[in-house]
Amino acid sequence: MTKHIFVTGGVVSSLGKGLTSASIGMLLEHRGLKVRMQKLDPYINVDPGTMSPYQHGEVYVLDDGSETDLDLGHYERFTNSKLTRNSNFTTGQIYQNVIEKERRGEFLGKTVQVIPHITNEIKHSIAKVAGEGIDVVITEIGGTVGDIESQPFLEAIRQFALDVGKENCLYIHLTLVPYLKAAAELKTKPTQHSVGQLRQIGIQPDILICRTERELPASDREKIALFCNVPFQAVIEERDKDFSIYEVPLSLVEHGLDSLIVKKLNLPNTSLDLDDWRDLLHRLRNPETEISIAVVGKYAEHKDAYKSIYEAIDHAGIEHHAQIRIGRIQSEAVEREGPERLLAGYDGILVPGGFGERGTEGKVEAIRFARERNIPFLGICLGMQCAVIEFARNVVGLKGANSTEFDKDTPYPVICLLDEQKNITDKGGTMRLGAQKSELDTNSKSFEWYGNRGISERHRHRYEFNNVYRKQFQAHNLTIAGTSEDDSLVEIVEVADHPWFVAVQFHPEFKSKPTQSHPLFSGFIQAAVRRTKNSAVPQSS
Ligand code: GLN
Repeated sequence: MTKHIFVTGGVVSSLGKGLTSASIGMLLEHRGLKVRMQKLDPYINVDPGTMSPYQHGEVYVLDDGSETDLDLGHYERFTNSKLTRNSNFTTGQIYQNVIEKERRGEFLGKTVQVIPHITNEIKHSIAKVAGEGIDVVITEIGGTVGDIESQPFLEAIRQFALDVGKENCLYIHLTLVPYLKAAAELKTKPTQHSVGQLRQIGIQPDILICRTERELPASDREKIALFCNVPFQAVIEERDKDFSIYEVPLSLVEHGLDSLIVKKLNLPNTSLDLDDWRDLLHRLRNPETEISIAVVGKYAEHKDAYKSIYEAIDHAGIEHHAQIRIGRIQSEAVEREGPERLLAGYDGILVPGGFGERGTEGKVEAIRFARERNIPFLGICLGMQCAVIEFARNVVGLKGANSTEFDKDTPYPVICLLDEQKNITDKGGTMRLGAQKSELDTNSKSFEWYGNRGISERHRHRYEFNNVYRKQFQAHNLTIAGTSEDDSLVEIVEVADHPWFVAVQFHPEFKSKPTQSHPLFSGFIQAAVRRTKNSAVPQSS
């Protein structure tokens, strides 16, 4: 029978529930257990696909095309849990399902209510992830205990233990133990209050994970244990990690979290082998070189907007023993100040995906700078489209070339709407989404790094390379390095006589892991490392 772990959060938001849940998943997998991860989000949007990155950070795309919360990115980077559209449910989706059932008459004339109909739908969504061969499902509840929106979810997870047996469920509550400078003390009261709120709903947490900036002394742990009605060993410290998020699981092991979970859920107490993770941290701590990469985007100042991209860059750094300083450059600033001032000195330039015209001219400028100065460049989605625009204007000589997304009347629409998109008006879930197969040209850098002709990568776009111009581009030495299997869509372009200029219509960042860097990020970072080494002034002895 599948066991269930529910992770809730209290006191404040942004406590890192996603990272903590992912770390728990990773530790249980390293004990040989089969884990599935899931996130329930209390907001009313049906999915985050239509939400601004300012509001919600990046939209994380799965193989099956679902547009999900960025925490699912942590799940995939930390674990091998297979994620599908059942891995992320929102209030909007839950209500939509219930309302559709009501319209079909499935409630047989009953009054449809939050309890039991909405809570049943939530429980049903949790149960979907469990099943044959799955040892543990970890379900993270978004939001903070005490929020109005979270109530039905908390009620549902309370009922869940009644349905499947308390011995098969574990409630882990993540809280904050703040340090008050004026009192020179850590304060446990917010934790007591948030656990109090959980207990009011009928949930007694089994384990408390306490986020804190300082060491949590035994006396504070005792106090929390007493007031929150949990055993002393079940009060676990999770100290802030300034160095790397990949330290989190190891610090939880030090405080005994994994063995406690295994014991409480009566799971087999197998040994925990963390060699790969320790090796990763060792590499992170002992870099051989240092390089800098500029990420030029519309939301560059927002650290969650390109989360997976920053992670994928770090993973490639781990592989190449390089410490990477990432410069977040706003593309509009490039328009104002010019690329030379903002980008000279970087060892590589990456232009990520995006929507809408704002800042695109700055991206085009940045790409021109990378191409002309032989700076390694990686373009992703909109970053590829801007690379095509730049090449059209400055190499092929198509003055005023653009994407019809930004200029409907451009004389040279080198990027235009996908045919299947032309009559679509709904915004949610209607792009070309999810895993799509491509074929690589064997005479390309992409092929060299993938080592395979056939690849599958995740997509999220409406616009595409306009095939009318394919021959003209090729005549000017732009390599079409990858296309869809039927050759109808251009997936990768490369500039051949350049150390590394690769631009892709898909999102490689969603498939990079700390223990296994993505081939394209790996190639890009290696080129950047080479560039630094070549430009280093030789030391005279
Ligand atoms: N706006 C572009 C499109 O819709 C690029 C999308 C993206 O970068 N994810 O095709």
